[in-house]
Amino acid sequence: MTTLAIIGNGILGRSLLYILAKEQKSFEKITLLHSDSFAFPCTLHSTAIVAPRGVTAGHSSLGDLIVDAFHGFKEHVTFDTPKGVDTILQFTGATTKLEAFKGRYPQGKVTKELPYFNLKREAYLAIEEAYMVDPESYNDWLMDEAKMRKQYPLEIINDFVIEVEQHDGVHVRTQQGRTFNFDKVVFAGGNYNRFWSQLVPESALKTSKAVQGSYFEFNNVHWPCPSFSLTFEGDNLVWNKGLGRLLIGSTTEVTNHVMPQMSELKGIYQRLSVLVDLNLPDISSAQIKVGLREKARKREPYTIGSGDLFFMGGMYKNGYSLALKMAKNFSHQHL
Ligand SMILES: Cc1cc2nc3c(=O)[nH]c(=O)nc-3n(C[C@H](O)[C@H](O)[C@H](O)COP(=O)(O)OP(=O)(O)OC[C@H]3O[C@@H](n4cnc5c(N)ncnc54)[C@H](O)[C@@H]3O)c2cc1C
Repeated sequence: MTTLAIIGNGILGRSLLYILAKEQKSFEKITLLHSDSFAFPCTLHSTAIVAPRGVTAGHSSLGDLIVDAFHGFKEHVTFDTPKGVDTILQFTGATTKLEAFKGRYPQGKVTKELPYFNLKREAYLAIEEAYMVDPESYNDWLMDEAKMRKQYPLEIINDFVIEVEQHDGVHVRTQQGRTFNFDKVVFAGGNYNRFWSQLVPESALKTSKAVQGSYFEFNNVHWPCPSFSLTFEGDNLVWNKGLGRLLIGSTTEVTNHVMPQMSELKGIYQRLSVLVDLNLPDISSAQIKVGLREKARKREPYTIGSGDLFFMGGMYKNGYSLALKMAKNFSHQHL
């Protein structure tokens, strides 16, 4: 039997654990290595909405994958009933660049009335069925489900991998000076995968970039309306009634650091406060959350490597649906 190491405790690492258990893959042991203090998972600083966002099949390979991943996630919610996922409405609107916007959302209409609240002015608005994920609960559920199925012994090690060598399996050295030997290793390291580009030359890792995203998080908010997500010309407002949590953001900046773009964030807050007919909490009560996501070539997720050592990543803006899809593909093709 095989020993497998998964490097990464984000949505991709957890989806892999879950899918391998669900698909009854047996291992001598699975070891999950991660370091949330050294490389905080983007997964927990994510607005975590799963929505089709007007993408339809038949135009590009990435579009087809996103559509497929959305349907896979929908099926997962219907049949596996995971914790931390709610069905919501996604409202998407615009008043500028309308020709392109209507092409993407032909089912929309000009209005200022939405099911749960109104806008203060008319706009072209479309409504889609979508899913709101609470990252903590859903990621805990994936781990609990994986453990409950008892398909393999699971060891979780909080340490950062700093060296990898391939001969007679894969040798791994960590920041705390420990060494391990595994039959197979899969990196699900998000933005940190790109530091291993020398191990897989000519690969997607060479051109991967870190893209920072930040948003305001307000807690103890008491709006009466059901949960929803609004995207208006790139600005996002995500309301989770169950948690009393409101998110407003998010910024996008190609950078490696986690210092948020405060003036851009305040600009989003101001634009939304004059757009929606809802009382936004005072900006002074906001926490600021920052995540570093990985944008790979052509925004496409990747699985590269062969034999014993693999790298998976590039989920960029669709981590919550693509991770499940990529984990299934990996399980079918490589294990
Ligand atoms: C502001 C923002 C909003 C977003 N909104 C959405 C959204 O609405 N919907 C959506 O689907 N997606 C969204 N995303 C994207 C989504 O969050 C990411 O695509 C996803 O979280 C990436 O998950 P991951 O598991 O690949 O990486 P991560 O979550 O970053 O996890 C990487 C893991 O690898 C570990 N690691 C890395 N290198 C090493 C090493 N050498 N040794 C040990 N451990 C290591 C880290 O400790 C961590 O546990 C958003 C992202 C941001 C920043």
